[in-house]
Amino acid sequence: MNRIGAIAFLFLLLPSRSQAWGFFSHRLINRLAVYTLPREMIGFYKANIDYLTDNATRPDSRRTVVPGEAPRHFLDVDVYGDSAVYKLPRSYADAVAQLGEDSLLRHGIVPWQVARMKGQLTEAFRTHETDRILHISADLGHYIADACVPLHATHNYNGQLTGQRGIHALWESRLPELLSSSYDFFTGPAPYLDRPTDVIWAAVGRSAAATDSVLRFERELTLKFPEDRKYGFEQRGNQTVRAYSRDFAREYHQRLNGQVERQMRLALRLVGAFWYTAWVDAGQPDLDKLPRQVSAAEQLRLAREAAQAPQTSPAAVPGHED
Ligand SMILES: [Zn+2]
Repeated sequence: MNRIGAIAFLFLLLPSRSQAWGFFSHRLINRLAVYTLPREMIGFYKANIDYLTDNATRPDSRRTVVPGEAPRHFLDVDVYGDSAVYKLPRSYADAVAQLGEDSLLRHGIVPWQVARMKGQLTEAFRTHETDRILHISADLGHYIADACVPLHATHNYNGQLTGQRGIHALWESRLPELLSSSYDFFTGPAPYLDRPTDVIWAAVGRSAAATDSVLRFERELTLKFPEDRKYGFEQRGNQTVRAYSRDFAREYHQRLNGQVERQMRLALRLVGAFWYTAWVDAGQPDLDKLPRQVSAAEQLRLAREAAQAPQTSPAAVPGHED
């Protein structure tokens, strides 16, 4: 195999769960969510908008460093049966009792993770801890956004079961990177969520329902595109990688008929809504009285964590070896 062939082969085998939504979209979603917040919150969040943007991808970076991190990003809801999304226990303890923790960690826990972090964020607002408020806000934004990606709600998350390897990165990275400049991200003010747990489960249900068209349109389009038009080579830094061609990506995007844009918009609206709801549930503390920035100690901790993050591709996740 020549060098380009080897790179192409590598591209198709890379664990695609390494960069959920792609770094580009995660950063954009956390950033835009700030603008959905009410007057009482927006000053504090705007002062930290770069922190929230830069740390939007931290949960992906620590996937291989922190045990138990990987399953927080997805839920293969289809492994539990047809209408599982309506039936799975909403309490994590009940889910462990019913399904066993091995199964949960293998097939993902994203909605339970979001619900747990909503509680943690409320608590951080209640105790007025700037470091924790920002830390949890950034991470929570990441997991909510992941729950809005259709391929994070199926066992066939990279088309590996249907000969469509690479579709994960196409949908969540390549399409938004190429085409999101024309998206309309206006969502209006963040709503208060009476039942945040139900809301995140509904988001996972919507993602699961969308997987059929995500996979089907790629399959249909592949019949139309000869191999040499379906893929092209792109320069990424100093590497040449094989990727879906721009023509294929554009036509696929057109068939999806606004799906990526709708899911991104949903994600940023939900991120704002969860931040807002946690603040309301904490009794609407006056954020203008808090330190505006993370402490020096927290900055040091973050720098250490970033230095620990692996520079190479993360190892495969149990149940997600692809
Ligand atoms: Zn992720």
